Amino acid sequence: CGVFGAVGVENAASVVALGLHALQHRGQEAGGIVTHDFAHGFSSARRFGYVRDNFTDAETMATLPGPIGIGHVRYSTAGSKGATQIRDVQPFFGEFSMGGAAIAHNGNITNALALRKELVERGSIFQSSSDSECIIHLMARSMGKKIPDRMEEALRKVEGAFSVVAMTRTKLIGCRDPLGVRPLVLGQLGDGWVLASETCALDIINATFVREIEPGEMVVINSKGVESHFPFRRAKSRFCIFEHVYFSRPDSILGGRSVYETRENIGRELAKENPVDADLVCPVPDSGTPAAIGYSLESGIPYAMGIIRNQYMGRTFIEPSESIRNMGVRLKLNVNRALVKGKRIILVDDSVVRGTTSRKIKEMILEAGAAEVHFRIASPPTAWPCFYGVDTPQREKLLAATMTEEEMRTHLGVDSLKFISLDGLYRAVGQAKRDNASPQYCDACFSGEYPVKPADMLEQGFEM
Ligand code: 5GP
Ligand code: SF4
Ligand code: MG
Repeated sequence: CGVFGAVGVENAASVVALGLHALQHRGQEAGGIVTHDFAHGFSSARRFGYVRDNFTDAETMATLPGPIGIGHVRYSTAGSKGATQIRDVQPFFGEFSMGGAAIAHNGNITNALALRKELVERGSIFQSSSDSECIIHLMARSMGKKIPDRMEEALRKVEGAFSVVAMTRTKLIGCRDPLGVRPLVLGQLGDGWVLASETCALDIINATFVREIEPGEMVVINSKGVESHFPFRRAKSRFCIFEHVYFSRPDSILGGRSVYETRENIGRELAKENPVDADLVCPVPDSGTPAAIGYSLESGIPYAMGIIRNQYMGRTFIEPSESIRNMGVRLKLNVNRALVKGKRIILVDDSVVRGTTSRKIKEMILEAGAAEVHFRIASPPTAWPCFYGVDTPQREKLLAATMTEEEMRTHLGVDSLKFISLDGLYRAVGQAKRDNASPQYCDACFSGEYPVKPADMLEQGFEM
């Protein structure tokens, strides 16, 4: 998901809508905006679909007045396993004795089921199936005098990954979990302030990047400025390495590093680790593009667009149902026949998850007359599900969980299949190597080493 907030700006809703539009790659199912001004109180709009279709018309935007607002773009990871219902669309809102507050959450709460059970037993009435709603109910139970105090108390009970943007009538609040699994950045816009999942959302409104919110930090922002707290026990950070590989936009800066450069580095490392004689390096667009460029630069094999992406389709993996995802490949990708015919092709993609996309692409490219197909993957084999906000399927459905690399190669029907090593990936993000005793990043989907115990999943029988 993507989160965004603005305070002290004229017409916060339109600033939030622009920010969310730049974060659309983080969630395409639904979006919502909450604003406040003293003439109207809190206003909100929550809709299915793209930001550009829901939050651009003057009529809707006029229903969201005020100088402060937050927003969220959603793709479902936890909670509703079926289709998203409008009641699951954030921001969530709560009315407390000292006034209202709205919150938007990116990440996944790993003890949400346990918390929900306890809260329901004690009388909380949940409106949605979302893990994020726990935060509002925990805030309602808190005896804190101010809303930020209540939020602090609530978030201390929550486990897992969270980058939260929240608002009261006058304050914008941002918080990252102690490990800082998901990103969150602070920007300045004129006399106002903004919070966003990624820096690309600052660029679109021409805001100045100030800094990242630190892991475990909570900032409370009003007209007087930014106040910073560290409410949690300090821990070594474990940022999601997959944000660098796939999830974030390549024009964003994460942890002081250009995502694009990291992806190009990944491609270079891949070429060093797994060279192969071939005629062309082709990306599976868009997610494989920067790594393919890196592979080409390192190997000296020419880069070419052997697969063309229909720009009017969204991200495949963000389509939650399997049937749509299956269809999606042809709707989204087509082989550039004239280019690939008779050629030995190196195909670079960011990841192999279920293998459905990769298999279809291989079929299409062989149909078009390619002589050989060599897959090079910009991440290690995805053998474990993510419980921190990226929607990987159950373990059984992950190709790498049940097959060796050679079995995967035969299953996909390609001439060769190679993945970047975990150390190669760490080199690409600027580390000498992975610190195996205490890894610098979360890489659980590749290593199975979960930095936060996935309590709900263990309760449901998941075996680590
Ligand atoms: P696959 O061949 O595993 O079906 O799909 C691989 C491609 O789809 C990659 O380009 C990857 O970006 C995307 N993808 C498909 N499903 C998922 C998923 O559930 N999680 C992630 N992380 N990526 C996926
Ligand atoms: Fe990121 Fe993978 Fe960790 Fe999930 S398990 S937070 S996708 S690195
Ligand atoms: Mg892809």
